[in-house]
Amino acid sequence: MSATQSAYLEQEGVYQFHMEYPVPAYLVALVAGDLVPADIGPRSRVWAEPCLLSTATSKLSGVVEQWLSAAERLYGPYMWGRYDIVFLPPSFPIVAMENPCLTFIISSILESDEFLIIDVIHEVAHSWFGNAVTNATWEEMWLSEGLATYAQRRITTETYGAAFTCLETAFRLDALHRQMKLLGEDNPVSKLQVKLEPGVNPSNLMNLFTYEKGYCFVYYLSQLCGDPQHFDSFLRAYVEKYKFTSVVAQDLLDSFLSFFPELKEQSVDSKAGLEFERWLNATGPPLAEPDLSQGSSLTSPVEALFRLWTAEPLDHAAASASSIDITKWRTFQTVLFLDRLLDGSPLPQEVVMKLSKCYSSLLDSMNAEIRIRWLQIVVRNDYYPDLYKVRRFLESQMSRMYTIPLYEDLCTGTLKSFALEVFYQTQGRLHPNLRKTIQQILSQGLAPSPAATDPTGLSVAPDAPALLLEDKPPEATNGAISLRDVNVSA
Ligand SMILES: [Zn+2]
Repeated sequence: MSATQSAYLEQEGVYQFHMEYPVPAYLVALVAGDLVPADIGPRSRVWAEPCLLSTATSKLSGVVEQWLSAAERLYGPYMWGRYDIVFLPPSFPIVAMENPCLTFIISSILESDEFLIIDVIHEVAHSWFGNAVTNATWEEMWLSEGLATYAQRRITTETYGAAFTCLETAFRLDALHRQMKLLGEDNPVSKLQVKLEPGVNPSNLMNLFTYEKGYCFVYYLSQLCGDPQHFDSFLRAYVEKYKFTSVVAQDLLDSFLSFFPELKEQSVDSKAGLEFERWLNATGPPLAEPDLSQGSSLTSPVEALFRLWTAEPLDHAAASASSIDITKWRTFQTVLFLDRLLDGSPLPQEVVMKLSKCYSSLLDSMNAEIRIRWLQIVVRNDYYPDLYKVRRFLESQMSRMYTIPLYEDLCTGTLKSFALEVFYQTQGRLHPNLRKTIQQILSQGLAPSPAATDPTGLSVAPDAPALLLEDKPPEATNGAISLRDVNVSA
């Protein structure tokens, strides 16, 4: 339970839990299962099913304490006593959840080390931003997510350096711009302060804008005061003032201006084009984005390789590209490269053939975050020789985060019959909720979708009618662009 276990009454078989500090009830969570604990630090242990315990322990032993200590140096003492982590089965629908005292995280992420690091650090950051100081309404989720993302990146900068942090940020901002293109710049969910109006699904208020546009605004505030460490001091004072309460954006911005009176005098809140009000209420991309040049040692090789693959003549470029060894790359470099190729898909068939020759078997041995992107390239380019790898992947991955994007791509393109066949072979092993979602994806275009009337364009289709077996052209799938495109870790 997301509280401290205080007693077990053996005779009654009753466990008692205790939460010393008030926390909004949406974060009370219980987990039950065949879970065993192992210590990974002085105030942390992992809980996992026995078959996962040694992997989970070996990946997190010692490092969680490093992250907690880095966060404490930045934002003051950790308030919740224990920081434990429970690993949930692949069917858990969210990547991670910051329940106080006990972070919930999906076990599928264990396969992809750098994603595991970022997701756990993000949840650690929520101990200050989100759990200690909480947004008062669902319309201002960015107060938790934007600040937690900012704090997460301060922790990774302190622990892994600026270059790595800039690389991870570049990867996520890329994803933000991709979502923006899909949704359109005037989509209401691209506002930081979204209005929960009729027709807006609360689930859609948690999207990449909440995280990354929120992050850009917090980063912009840190730039206004000129020194990230000075801004850390402000955040420390903000947490101290508001801990165990709920706040609105005005509380943060008023505190900011009183902490930096010289900025208040300069009326930074109404600087033309960058007004705080505009940050909060305008749709579209962030009004300013961070300078990521400190990441260039890691991002330029990615840019260079992508340019080679899109250059003419292809033979010459492909030869140079194949001499670049990506096995030494960070995961975030590889996924950034593959995302760029995905953005450019469909690519000329000759390019896809050469890409496959160069990378397909190499990527087979890499983690799931990398493999799924290559397979999406395969699907979006109708590259049949590698289709058996898509089948193999879907036969072994039962997690929402890895199956949904592939099924969506298969059904948007010309491979719906293939998708149906794989689904019928694997559906018995899928979690019922996931099975239902995939059925909805498979039946899109076969029935009118209410998404067409949803102003956000983000709604998930309701319960699908009995799945039809006939194959139809995927003409109507673009009405229901979903947020599943990029995995969100709460
Ligand atoms: Zn979060």
